[in-house]
Amino acid sequence: MRRLSVFGATGSVGQSALDLVRRDRHAWQIVVLSANSDVAELARLAREFTPEIAVIGDPARHDELTAALADTNVGVAAGADALVDAARLPADLVLAAIVGTAGLAPTMAAIEAGCDVALANKESLVSAGELMIAAAQRSGATILPVDSEHNAIFQCLAGGRLDQVRPAEAMARVTPAQAVAHPNWSMGAKISVDSATMMNKGLELIEAHHLFPVGLDRIEILVHPQSVIHSLVEYVDCSTLAQLGSPDMRIPIASALAWPQRMATPCAPLDLAAIARLDFEAPDEERFPATALCRAAIAEGGARPAQLNAANEVAVAAFLAGRISFPAIIDTVKRVLDADAPAVPGALQDIFSVDAASRAAAQHFVDQLEHA
Ligand code: NAD
Ligand code: MG
Repeated sequence: MRRLSVFGATGSVGQSALDLVRRDRHAWQIVVLSANSDVAELARLAREFTPEIAVIGDPARHDELTAALADTNVGVAAGADALVDAARLPADLVLAAIVGTAGLAPTMAAIEAGCDVALANKESLVSAGELMIAAAQRSGATILPVDSEHNAIFQCLAGGRLDQVRPAEAMARVTPAQAVAHPNWSMGAKISVDSATMMNKGLELIEAHHLFPVGLDRIEILVHPQSVIHSLVEYVDCSTLAQLGSPDMRIPIASALAWPQRMATPCAPLDLAAIARLDFEAPDEERFPATALCRAAIAEGGARPAQLNAANEVAVAAFLAGRISFPAIIDTVKRVLDADAPAVPGALQDIFSVDAASRAAAQHFVDQLEHA
């Protein structure tokens, strides 16, 4: 039995992972299940998967969760610190599937504890990539990418880290590829908006830069409406390897959960004859400036990506709340990035400070726009 903790268990990625666990129940022992505020769903999952502990992010819901699980052996905790403590519990694998920088502290705690992490929570890597990768190198934790493009690159590299598999010079190009509009994937609210602005691709560029450090100029974005090829890796001899699969997140999640083995999934096998054609086009950076903003932010480095990510999280939340228009999302991010570059972060606390200041700045612009 492998010990698995699932952070963000009630979300789209978390539920997909638990769907896989459900199909091979005896292979897994669930250590932690967490959610932000949905006590009823967390309690339901806790009854089904009997984790050692269920953690609710919202501290005001501690009593509610305790009552909901009173007749079980599942431990109960609440609040941001409890999430961090739970992330340190011994596990073979921690699935980091909280959305936003709310996932940063628990993900870092798991990495620092030396736990292998299946990483879906891209915002944590965008905000604190250098610190996370350095922590993983110190503790020996492996970061297994769950994001479909990065999981595809990981598979095309025959698994394992870049430096362990082939010298960096052996790679000419790494190309994350995915559709702009998403009739193909069903996802959480925030990443759906990020997909529509192309910010998702920009965040993924930063994510790829940290996971596969081949140099920014060798990471290309390619628009591919069918979402069948998830990424390609081009080697020095111009041999190009691609990973293909139906657009179903359970496939990259299964790859990360089972690595270095494989596990069966209930996903639809690829029917290329039925799909018939695969299309590709270069991204339109004039219509969608988000990818260029991300490229500039990571090229500048330091805390710029953290600033960008925080502004985007606030702007997307304001858009989802009906407070600002769709184009105002990227306008808000741009305005926050107009500020001077924050000092280069030396520790996680510096990232949290930049995150908080950037959120406040973004909130200020959102308030102005709303009352304009
Ligand atoms: P979601 O909104 O469906 O789920 C988010 C989960 O995080 C929920 O369980 C929620 O309770 C929890 N959460 C939210 N805020 C929290 C907080 N403040 N404290 C504690 N927990 C909190 O999101 P999702 O679509 O599953 O995405 C999760 C992550 O995976 C994101 O970073 C996203 O970019 C990434 N990702 C998702 C997909 C996808 O297909 N959904 C694909 C690739 C990457
Ligand atoms: Mg992706």
